[in-house]
Amino acid sequence: MSDPVESLASLTVHRDLDALDAALVHALADLLQPQAIAIHRLVGLRQQPSHWTLSARLGPLVAWTGRPLPVRPFDDELPELAALPAHKACIDTGCVQHLTAEAGAAVTLFPLLSGRGPVAVLEVQSAQPLGEADVQMVSGILRVFQNFWNVVDESERDTLTGLLNRKTFDDTFFKISLALPRPPSALEAPAGGGCWLAVLDIDHFKSVNDRFGHLIGDEVLLLAARMLREMLRHHDRLYRFGGEEFVVLLRCGSEADARRALERVREGMANHAFPQVGHVTVSIGFAQVLPGDTPSSAFGRADKAVYHAKQHGRNRVVSYNDLVLLGQAGQEDARVGEVELF
Ligand code: GH3
Ligand code: MG
Ligand code: MG
Repeated sequence: MSDPVESLASLTVHRDLDALDAALVHALADLLQPQAIAIHRLVGLRQQPSHWTLSARLGPLVAWTGRPLPVRPFDDELPELAALPAHKACIDTGCVQHLTAEAGAAVTLFPLLSGRGPVAVLEVQSAQPLGEADVQMVSGILRVFQNFWNVVDESERDTLTGLLNRKTFDDTFFKISLALPRPPSALEAPAGGGCWLAVLDIDHFKSVNDRFGHLIGDEVLLLAARMLREMLRHHDRLYRFGGEEFVVLLRCGSEADARRALERVREGMANHAFPQVGHVTVSIGFAQVLPGDTPSSAFGRADKAVYHAKQHGRNRVVSYNDLVLLGQAGQEDARVGEVELF
């Protein structure tokens, strides 16, 4: 068993939120020697989280539903809040909950609270219920952990919209592109799905600022960001790249799926009436992320597609492959994915 202060020190070396959750689980497992331990994070809109996702787990966790929950970061079927009622009670009350699981194991649930409200539940499953001293120690560690987590989280977000910022894009991109299975050919999606990078640029945004002022322009950016977050799935990563440009990393089974999702976004935006401003449209370009791709090469391909959308009437979705088929882009741009990495 290690020292709690040592555990805290080892946690704060991380600057990556996923790594932080995994480190917390490992540090607490070392201190408590539990049967299982996990972090269930709330996902959905910040003000209104709707689902749980398992962000870190050690040991054969039996959730309170009695159902084993594997870590599935790209799952479309995340459990709704009500599916884990004891966990929901934990965040609703902000209090530690003690339960007895099916096989007689004791389950202790700890809320993780940020300045903006509850963000996760830590679940500890042990043969015997945790003693008061352990509950106090874990609660203290969680408070320090959460303060540190908030600082890292804030450094990854754009201040106006709360979306992820450009700084974090490269790290996530490399994580995704290096983990992609090699597709049968450069233009096909790998078995089990691929990743697409989309660039979304608001049309004629300068004229919104010119007609209504910068403050109203900011309001449109804020509402547009919220709408994008609502229209995309939990596991799609959404970034503000500065100005009126957004980038999405979409996990999809095929290019047709990615196009459908982006068409839905384009249509949703075009149909929405913003207060005072009215209708605002968006042009979208997208390209498949290839194994070993670099952020700038994939972004460059999607950006060419946006440029084409702008040149051909705006308020449309264009893929880089559309340009290849039209003879307006070379396939050689996409061959970066065939570079071997050592
Ligand atoms: P296009 O359809 O070709 O994209 O035209 P556009 O006017 O949207 O494009 P352009 O790149 O010429 O202008 C983008 C404008 O976005 C310029 C700038 O005034 C505005 N802008 C950039 N950042 C912000 C911001 O944070 N707030 C506000 N209100 N406006 C911003
Ligand atoms: Mg722009
Ligand atoms: Mg624009």
